[in-house]
Amino acid sequence: MTRTILVTGGGTGIGKAVAAKFATSGAVVYVTGRRKDVLVSAAAELGPSVRPLVCDSTDPEQVTAALAGLDGPIDVLVNNAGGNTDFDLPEQDGLAGVLARWRANLDANLISAVLTTTAVEDDLAEGGSVIHIGSIAADQGAGSYGAAKAGLASWNVDLAKQLGARKITANVVSPGYIRETEFFRDKLPAERAEQLVDATSTGRAGIPADIAETVYFLASAGARHITGQTFGVNGGAYPTR
Ligand code: NDP
Repeated sequence: MTRTILVTGGGTGIGKAVAAKFATSGAVVYVTGRRKDVLVSAAAELGPSVRPLVCDSTDPEQVTAALAGLDGPIDVLVNNAGGNTDFDLPEQDGLAGVLARWRANLDANLISAVLTTTAVEDDLAEGGSVIHIGSIAADQGAGSYGAAKAGLASWNVDLAKQLGARKITANVVSPGYIRETEFFRDKLPAERAEQLVDATSTGRAGIPADIAETVYFLASAGARHITGQTFGVNGGAYPTR
Protein backbone atom coordinates (compact mmCIF):
# COMPACT_ATOMS: atom_id res chain seq x y z
CA MET A 1 0.00 0.00 0.00
CA THR A 2 1.34 3.45 -0.92
CA ARG A 3 1.89 5.56 2.19
CA THR A 4 1.22 9.32 2.28
CA ILE A 5 3.77 11.45 4.14
CA LEU A 6 3.74 15.15 5.06
CA VAL A 7 7.09 16.79 5.84
CA THR A 8 7.08 20.43 6.93
CA GLY A 9 10.19 22.36 5.86
CA GLY A 10 10.82 19.52 3.40
CA GLY A 11 12.64 21.54 0.72
CA THR A 12 16.09 21.68 2.36
CA GLY A 13 18.41 20.02 4.87
CA ILE A 14 16.96 17.44 7.24
CA GLY A 15 13.41 17.73 5.88
CA LYS A 16 14.58 17.12 2.32
CA ALA A 17 16.55 14.03 3.43
CA VAL A 18 13.44 12.72 5.20
CA ALA A 19 11.35 13.37 2.05
CA ALA A 20 13.98 11.58 -0.07
CA LYS A 21 14.03 8.55 2.23
CA PHE A 22 10.25 8.08 2.09
CA ALA A 23 10.04 8.85 -1.65
CA THR A 24 12.68 6.19 -2.35
CA SER A 25 10.54 3.70 -0.43
CA GLY A 26 7.59 4.38 -2.80
CA ALA A 27 5.57 6.82 -0.69
CA VAL A 28 3.80 9.97 -1.87
CA VAL A 29 5.48 12.82 0.01
CA TYR A 30 4.06 16.34 0.46
CA VAL A 31 6.71 18.93 1.38
CA THR A 32 5.93 22.36 2.80
CA GLY A 33 7.95 25.58 3.16
CA ARG A 34 7.69 29.31 2.56
CA ARG A 35 9.87 29.49 -0.57
CA LYS A 36 8.12 28.08 -3.64
CA ASP A 37 11.30 27.96 -5.76
CA VAL A 38 13.12 25.87 -3.13
CA LEU A 39 10.21 23.40 -2.87
CA VAL A 40 9.77 23.11 -6.64
CA SER A 41 13.46 22.45 -7.14
CA ALA A 42 13.54 19.82 -4.35
CA ALA A 43 10.48 18.09 -5.86
CA ALA A 44 12.08 18.12 -9.32
CA GLU A 45 15.22 16.53 -7.86
CA LEU A 46 13.45 13.91 -5.74
CA GLY A 47 10.90 12.78 -8.33
CA PRO A 48 7.20 12.95 -9.18
CA SER A 49 5.99 11.41 -5.90
CA VAL A 50 7.24 14.52 -4.05
CA ARG A 51 4.66 17.33 -4.10
CA PRO A 52 5.22 20.93 -2.96
CA LEU A 53 2.73 22.85 -0.80
CA VAL A 54 3.74 26.45 -0.11
CA CYS A 55 2.90 27.75 3.36
CA ASP A 56 4.29 29.42 6.44
CA SER A 57 3.79 26.86 9.22
CA THR A 58 3.38 29.63 11.80
CA ASP A 59 0.35 31.14 10.02
CA PRO A 60 -2.95 29.34 10.74
CA GLU A 61 -4.66 30.59 7.58
CA GLN A 62 -1.81 29.56 5.30
CA VAL A 63 -1.57 26.15 6.97
CA THR A 64 -5.31 25.52 6.57
CA ALA A 65 -5.34 26.66 2.94
CA ALA A 66 -2.23 24.69 1.90
CA LEU A 67 -3.19 21.46 3.63
CA ALA A 68 -6.65 21.53 2.05
CA GLY A 69 -4.80 20.53 -1.14
CA LEU A 70 -3.65 17.28 0.41
CA ASP A 71 -5.33 13.95 -0.29
CA GLY A 72 -5.73 12.17 3.10
CA PRO A 73 -5.35 9.94 5.02
CA ILE A 74 -1.84 10.81 6.13
CA ASP A 75 0.28 7.92 7.36
CA VAL A 76 3.24 9.95 8.62
CA LEU A 77 3.52 13.60 9.66
CA VAL A 78 7.05 14.94 10.18
CA ASN A 79 7.10 18.35 11.89
CA ASN A 80 10.54 19.48 10.79
CA ALA A 81 10.07 23.19 9.89
CA GLY A 82 12.00 25.43 12.24
CA GLY A 83 15.46 26.53 13.22
CA ASN A 84 17.02 29.10 15.53
CA THR A 85 15.39 32.38 14.48
CA ASP A 86 17.88 34.42 16.58
CA PHE A 87 20.12 34.32 13.51
CA ASP A 88 17.44 35.93 11.31
CA LEU A 89 16.10 38.79 13.45
CA PRO A 90 17.44 42.36 13.41
CA GLU A 91 18.84 43.65 16.74
CA GLN A 92 16.11 45.28 18.83
CA ASP A 93 16.67 46.76 22.28
CA GLY A 94 14.65 46.38 25.45
CA LEU A 95 11.71 44.18 26.28
CA ALA A 96 10.29 44.59 22.77
CA GLY A 97 13.44 42.89 21.47
CA VAL A 98 13.18 40.11 24.06
CA LEU A 99 9.53 39.53 23.14
CA ALA A 100 10.29 39.47 19.41
CA ARG A 101 13.09 36.92 19.85
CA TRP A 102 11.04 34.63 22.10
CA ARG A 103 7.92 34.83 19.95
CA ALA A 104 9.87 34.07 16.78
CA ASN A 105 11.51 30.93 18.19
CA LEU A 106 8.35 29.70 19.91
CA ASP A 107 6.34 30.26 16.71
CA ALA A 108 8.89 28.63 14.40
CA ASN A 109 9.70 25.60 16.54
CA LEU A 110 6.66 24.86 18.73
CA ILE A 111 3.53 26.62 17.47
CA SER A 112 4.26 25.53 13.89
CA ALA A 113 4.14 21.86 14.96
CA VAL A 114 0.99 22.39 17.03
CA LEU A 115 -0.78 24.10 14.09
CA THR A 116 0.16 21.50 11.47
CA THR A 117 -0.63 18.55 13.74
CA THR A 118 -3.99 20.02 14.70
CA ALA A 119 -4.82 20.83 11.06
CA VAL A 120 -4.31 17.20 9.96
CA GLU A 121 -5.15 15.36 13.19
CA ASP A 122 -8.49 14.01 11.93
CA ASP A 123 -6.85 12.89 8.68
CA LEU A 124 -4.09 10.86 10.32
CA ALA A 125 -4.41 7.16 9.45
CA GLU A 126 -4.96 4.63 12.25
CA GLY A 127 -1.57 3.10 13.06
CA GLY A 128 0.26 6.14 11.65
CA SER A 129 3.05 8.23 13.15
CA VAL A 130 3.82 11.81 14.08
CA ILE A 131 7.51 12.66 14.40
CA HIS A 132 8.83 16.07 15.43
CA ILE A 133 12.38 17.28 14.86
CA GLY A 134 13.59 18.64 18.20
CA SER A 135 17.15 19.66 19.06
CA ILE A 136 19.98 18.93 21.46
CA ALA A 137 19.52 22.64 22.29
CA ALA A 138 16.50 21.60 24.41
CA ASP A 139 18.94 20.08 26.93
CA GLN A 140 21.62 22.75 26.71
CA GLY A 141 19.95 25.80 28.19
CA ALA A 142 19.93 27.44 24.77
CA GLY A 143 17.65 30.44 25.31
CA SER A 144 14.35 30.77 23.50
CA TYR A 145 15.33 28.22 20.81
CA GLY A 146 16.16 25.55 23.41
CA ALA A 147 13.03 26.38 25.39
CA ALA A 148 10.86 26.06 22.26
CA LYS A 149 12.35 22.65 21.43
CA ALA A 150 11.95 21.52 25.08
CA GLY A 151 8.32 22.64 24.88
CA LEU A 152 7.90 20.56 21.74
CA ALA A 153 9.13 17.44 23.54
CA SER A 154 6.84 18.15 26.51
CA TRP A 155 3.78 18.72 24.31
CA ASN A 156 4.59 15.52 22.41
CA VAL A 157 3.95 13.46 25.56
CA ASP A 158 0.44 14.91 25.71
CA LEU A 159 -0.05 14.29 21.99
CA ALA A 160 1.05 10.65 22.34
CA LYS A 161 -1.63 10.15 25.01
CA GLN A 162 -4.29 11.75 22.80
CA LEU A 163 -3.44 9.76 19.68
CA GLY A 164 -2.78 6.44 21.39
CA ALA A 165 -6.39 5.28 21.16
CA ARG A 166 -6.06 5.41 17.35
CA LYS A 167 -2.76 3.44 17.51
CA ILE A 168 -0.91 6.53 16.27
CA THR A 169 2.55 7.03 17.75
CA ALA A 170 4.15 10.43 18.47
CA ASN A 171 7.89 10.86 19.05
CA VAL A 172 10.67 13.43 18.85
CA VAL A 173 13.99 12.98 17.06
CA SER A 174 16.46 15.38 18.62
CA PRO A 175 19.51 16.00 16.40
CA GLY A 176 22.92 17.19 17.48
CA TYR A 177 24.81 19.31 14.97
CA ILE A 178 23.96 18.37 11.41
CA ARG A 179 26.02 19.68 8.50
CA GLU A 180 24.79 20.11 4.91
CA THR A 181 21.89 22.21 6.22
CA GLU A 182 21.28 25.91 5.54
CA PHE A 183 21.85 26.63 9.24
CA PHE A 184 25.22 24.89 9.43
CA ARG A 185 26.38 26.22 6.05
CA ASP A 186 25.15 29.83 6.15
CA LYS A 187 24.69 30.85 9.78
CA LEU A 188 27.04 29.00 12.13
CA PRO A 189 30.59 30.47 12.31
CA ALA A 190 33.16 27.88 11.10
CA GLU A 191 35.05 27.98 14.39
CA ARG A 192 31.88 27.19 16.37
CA ALA A 193 31.02 24.36 13.98
CA GLU A 194 34.46 22.86 14.61
CA GLN A 195 33.93 23.03 18.39
CA LEU A 196 30.58 21.29 18.04
CA VAL A 197 32.11 18.43 16.06
CA ASP A 198 34.91 18.13 18.65
CA ALA A 199 32.24 17.76 21.34
CA THR A 200 30.87 14.53 19.81
CA SER A 201 32.09 11.11 20.96
CA THR A 202 32.34 9.94 17.36
CA GLY A 203 34.31 12.97 16.09
CA ARG A 204 31.97 13.60 13.18
CA ALA A 205 29.14 15.99 12.43
CA GLY A 206 25.91 14.26 11.54
CA ILE A 207 24.36 14.54 8.09
CA PRO A 208 20.64 14.89 7.29
CA ALA A 209 20.45 11.22 6.26
CA ASP A 210 21.35 10.20 9.85
CA ILE A 211 18.17 11.89 11.04
CA ALA A 212 16.10 10.57 8.13
CA GLU A 213 17.03 6.97 9.00
CA THR A 214 15.79 7.39 12.59
CA VAL A 215 12.58 9.09 11.44
CA TYR A 216 12.00 6.27 8.95
CA PHE A 217 12.40 3.63 11.67
CA LEU A 218 10.00 5.45 14.02
CA ALA A 219 7.41 5.43 11.22
CA SER A 220 7.79 1.68 10.67
CA ALA A 221 5.74 -1.22 12.06
CA GLY A 222 8.78 -2.24 14.13
CA ALA A 223 8.38 0.95 16.18
CA ARG A 224 4.68 0.55 16.93
CA HIS A 225 5.26 0.19 20.71
CA ILE A 226 7.37 3.37 20.91
CA THR A 227 5.47 6.56 21.67
CA GLY A 228 5.81 9.74 23.72
CA GLN A 229 9.63 9.48 23.55
CA THR A 230 12.54 11.73 22.56
CA PHE A 231 15.58 10.24 20.83
CA GLY A 232 18.93 12.02 20.69
CA VAL A 233 20.76 11.47 17.39
CA ASN A 234 23.95 13.38 18.06
CA GLY A 235 27.10 11.26 17.83
CA GLY A 236 27.36 11.31 21.61
CA ALA A 237 27.45 15.11 21.90
CA TYR A 238 25.89 15.21 25.32
CA PRO A 239 24.97 18.60 26.75
CA THR A 240 27.66 18.61 29.44
CA ARG A 241 30.52 18.04 26.96
P1 NDP B 1 17.23 24.21 7.12
O1 NDP B 1 17.29 25.68 7.34
O2 NDP B 1 17.93 23.61 5.98
O3 NDP B 1 15.71 23.73 7.06
C1 NDP B 1 14.64 24.37 7.67
C2 NDP B 1 13.45 24.23 6.73
O4 NDP B 1 12.29 24.66 7.40
C3 NDP B 1 13.61 25.06 5.47
O5 NDP B 1 13.26 24.27 4.37
C4 NDP B 1 12.63 26.20 5.66
O6 NDP B 1 12.09 26.58 4.40
C5 NDP B 1 11.59 25.55 6.56
N1 NDP B 1 10.92 26.51 7.43
C6 NDP B 1 11.48 27.28 8.39
N2 NDP B 1 10.55 28.05 8.95
C7 NDP B 1 9.37 27.74 8.34
C8 NDP B 1 8.05 28.19 8.47
N3 NDP B 1 7.72 29.16 9.34
N4 NDP B 1 7.10 27.66 7.69
C9 NDP B 1 7.41 26.69 6.79
N5 NDP B 1 8.64 26.22 6.62
C10 NDP B 1 9.61 26.74 7.38
O7 NDP B 1 17.77 23.60 8.47
P2 NDP B 1 17.73 22.14 9.10
O8 NDP B 1 17.48 21.09 8.08
O9 NDP B 1 18.94 22.08 9.93
O10 NDP B 1 16.48 22.25 10.09
C11 NDP B 1 15.45 21.31 10.17
C12 NDP B 1 15.05 21.11 11.62
O11 NDP B 1 16.14 20.52 12.33
C13 NDP B 1 14.71 22.41 12.36
O12 NDP B 1 13.56 22.20 13.14
C14 NDP B 1 15.93 22.64 13.25
O13 NDP B 1 15.59 23.34 14.42
C15 NDP B 1 16.33 21.19 13.54
N6 NDP B 1 17.72 21.02 13.99
C16 NDP B 1 18.78 21.26 13.14
C17 NDP B 1 20.09 21.05 13.58
C18 NDP B 1 21.28 21.29 12.70
O14 NDP B 1 22.42 21.20 13.18
N7 NDP B 1 21.14 21.58 11.42
C19 NDP B 1 20.37 20.59 14.94
C20 NDP B 1 19.20 20.34 15.73
C21 NDP B 1 17.93 20.55 15.26
P3 NDP B 1 11.61 28.08 4.08
O15 NDP B 1 12.66 29.00 4.62
O16 NDP B 1 11.48 28.12 2.59
O17 NDP B 1 10.30 28.24 4.76
